[in-house]
Amino acid sequence: MQNLFKGGVHPDEMKELTEDKAVSVMPCPDTVYVSLAQHIGKPAKAVVAAGSEVKMGELIAQADGVISANVYSPVSGVVKGVENRPTPSGKSEHIVIENDKKYTETRLQPLTDPTPEQIIDRITVAGIVGMGGAGFPSGVKMKSNKPVDTFIINAAECEPYITCDARIMTDYTEEFVSGAKLLYKALGLKEVHIGIEDNKMPVVERLNAYLSEKGFSDVVIHVLKTKYPQGAEKQLIYSVTGRKVPLGALPNAVGVVVSNVHSALSTHYAVKEGIPLYKRIMTVTGKGITKPKNIWVSNGTLYNDVIEFCGGIKDGVNVVKLINGGPMMGVAVSGGTIACTKTTSCLLLMTDEEAFTGKPSPCINCAKCASVCPMRLMPMYMDLYSRAGDLDTAVKYGLSNCIECGCCTFICPAKRTLVQSFRLAKKQLRGRK
Ligand code: SF4
Ligand code: SF4
Repeated sequence: MQNLFKGGVHPDEMKELTEDKAVSVMPCPDTVYVSLAQHIGKPAKAVVAAGSEVKMGELIAQADGVISANVYSPVSGVVKGVENRPTPSGKSEHIVIENDKKYTETRLQPLTDPTPEQIIDRITVAGIVGMGGAGFPSGVKMKSNKPVDTFIINAAECEPYITCDARIMTDYTEEFVSGAKLLYKALGLKEVHIGIEDNKMPVVERLNAYLSEKGFSDVVIHVLKTKYPQGAEKQLIYSVTGRKVPLGALPNAVGVVVSNVHSALSTHYAVKEGIPLYKRIMTVTGKGITKPKNIWVSNGTLYNDVIEFCGGIKDGVNVVKLINGGPMMGVAVSGGTIACTKTTSCLLLMTDEEAFTGKPSPCINCAKCASVCPMRLMPMYMDLYSRAGDLDTAVKYGLSNCIECGCCTFICPAKRTLVQSFRLAKKQLRGRK
């Protein structure tokens, strides 16, 4: 029987827009803008300059330190320069490459039967990061400084609208399972646990059919109750293992490492085919887009190009929000000149029918936000003190332990922008440090 975390909400899933759309390929645009900050940590350092000729799959920026990641070119062509451009969270340097459309490729040496050390080394060299949105360098995560006895693939995909992980498991079952097996091998373990919500039963059936056809008993599927945020790391670990990760600690404090579905797929390509991470599968969705899709997109493709490939904005609708990510944890962006990165899992075009754009009203002290908070925090007080600039008191009410899941914002009858207030307060806290 599954352990069920406390709190959480049940937003409209809205996955029907894309869940049956098999993954297609978006051709590379004429120009790509490849960010040097596609991960948590220090931006990578460019190793090419204006005029450099590059191949598809060639290293164009080197990890700068341990918490950083290599960056590769998604096309062959000529580097036009390095520009400071907008990202969903600010600005970063981007390498601008003109695509020669020849797709001259270079690969790393494929590894047939790698050792755990070789797998971790390849993950690091190939620039693989957590592709669910966090962007933590995967090679660092796999070198746990604490004993680990359990490896979990986070296949919950609990954010409304997003279906790219479900499609990876459906359309690339063999490659995904291969990557998941490589990852548990890298940790020196004997099996992998896949946590997936029960609103994806066709995916579970597809996986089970494949595992039984191959006779694989080292891949254990846990079907979990659909409840947002089932895919938050601490909540997923509790659901699958019953272990509670202490506040402020990482999953390896309870002997667990968690990886994202796409990171497993990228591990397969990097190890078995020698292809580093320079493209990904993403969902383009919302009632504002003409043809919602799941597509392979090259890093550095502008949101505007992605929207055009999906038929543009639907006629007769009023798109009021463009979101990088899902509606609960995603970030609303101001325009389509931002480029896709390793962590762009979704572009969501929300119409006035879907998104709330009204004004928040004062807090009525109903405590609904506290009742749904999966971290058992006090969002109304965190918000009150964050807005007043009293960050120390906001921290006392739990600010640092907020996972920014958005459950409080979703449930608030006064439509208060709670999670946005917490993001800003945390940014101020980091600045103070
Ligand atoms: S306070 Fe943070 S963790 Fe709690 S519901 Fe709100 S966003 Fe989620
Ligand atoms: S849910 Fe909204 S109105 Fe109710 S206590 Fe929380 S912040 Fe205040």
